[in-house]
Amino acid sequence: MNDILPDEAELWERFDDAVRDWLRAYGYRPIRMPIVEPTPLFARAIGEVTDIVEKEMYSFVDALNGEALTLRPEGTASCVRAVLQHSLLHGGPQRLWYAGPMFRHERPQKGRYRQFHQFGVEAFGYAGPDIDAEQIAMCARLWDELALSGIQLEINTLGSAEERLRHRAELIAYLENNRGALDADAQRRLQSNPLRILDSKNPRMQEVIEGAPKLMDFLGEASQEHFGGVQALLKEACIPYRINPRLVRGLDYYNLTVFEWVTDKLGAQGTVCAGGRYDGLIEQLGGKATQACGFAMGVERLVALMKEEHGAVTGQAAQSAPDIYVVHQGELALPSAFRTAEALRGAGYDVLFHCGGGSFKSQMKRADMSGAQIAVIIGDDEATEGSATLKYMREDAPQKRIPQDQLADVIGNYLIGDDNDGDL
Ligand code: ATP
Ligand code: MG
Repeated sequence: MNDILPDEAELWERFDDAVRDWLRAYGYRPIRMPIVEPTPLFARAIGEVTDIVEKEMYSFVDALNGEALTLRPEGTASCVRAVLQHSLLHGGPQRLWYAGPMFRHERPQKGRYRQFHQFGVEAFGYAGPDIDAEQIAMCARLWDELALSGIQLEINTLGSAEERLRHRAELIAYLENNRGALDADAQRRLQSNPLRILDSKNPRMQEVIEGAPKLMDFLGEASQEHFGGVQALLKEACIPYRINPRLVRGLDYYNLTVFEWVTDKLGAQGTVCAGGRYDGLIEQLGGKATQACGFAMGVERLVALMKEEHGAVTGQAAQSAPDIYVVHQGELALPSAFRTAEALRGAGYDVLFHCGGGSFKSQMKRADMSGAQIAVIIGDDEATEGSATLKYMREDAPQKRIPQDQLADVIGNYLIGDDNDGDL
């Protein structure tokens, strides 16, 4: 679990701002859920024999009432719970997003943390492949807006529950016949979650995985049509993709379309965004059967990619500089400068007011380091006279003494470039 220090946190804010605008542009509305949920919600939604529920959840018993609780490992289950609890679907289909920390007890490594952050996007009540394709196209646009290149799209279809069941029976039979080639994890999952075996990264098992029956060969017409529909729209939007038949996703609730966006610039943890359709989940959690489709982006990985591609900006320069730095010295000057700073903020400027005293010289050094365009200097002389000295920090122009009540206007003219030569 990481502290996110200011240089990094400012990059996160830039990321958040871009993402919020982008979500609004696609008609998604925000929803905020609690970070803690009853443990059974995740067991029911994600599945008992998934990595998350088997070994990654931070669960505890509420000492006051004995309730089993869990720090959320993902957002979809909570989002569906909230939507059902508040009957949001009575208002028709919904496009929703949320963001925040998620918790999984994993082995920490680059790009894999125990508290990490996601932006999650969920659409409820849309049956066709159009929403699947739109969500994928959305991602493509975001990478574009963030100027991130080389994020590859992989898609697959998981078919329907019945198709998976038929495939599953054949898969188990095949894996039983090749039991000797399976590692301990796979043997354990043989009955409980054989599809997940196909997702194994164990190099010794790749051969047996290659030869396994393919779900694609068990798909009925409707599933094929849906997958075809998604692909047709992706082609329409000129979004390149690769079909990866081994993409099965680690959560049980998916059906039909699944997708991942993967980069090779982050080492082993290259998946920056993942999602798909989960038409069964809402009913499974007690709601009326409703189609659903969503995805989640890993913020740590995307921010790392932004740094990788565009370099890190550090120190004060990383922060957006204030417009004005207020320098002051003397007993009379303090209240006058304090009032002036507030008045300038009231006029809409970003103002750093010097705190902590020190000589004019040391204060001017601070003003310079802040990146401000202008220093407003108030000594006892200016305070007595109700004026201030204006100094241009970024160009060679004579400083001016002007009445305090004209400061906002004069600075305004300067900052918008009407009078950039300093000759006010
Ligand atoms: P992985 O196969 O990498 O464990 P996952 O299938 O468990 O991923 P999802 O539950 O689909 O991941 O979460 C969506 C995204 O959230 C991932 O693609 C990744 O970018 C990010 N993510 C998931 N787990 C972590 C983690 N422990 N630390 C940082 N980011 C994570
Ligand atoms: Mg995982």
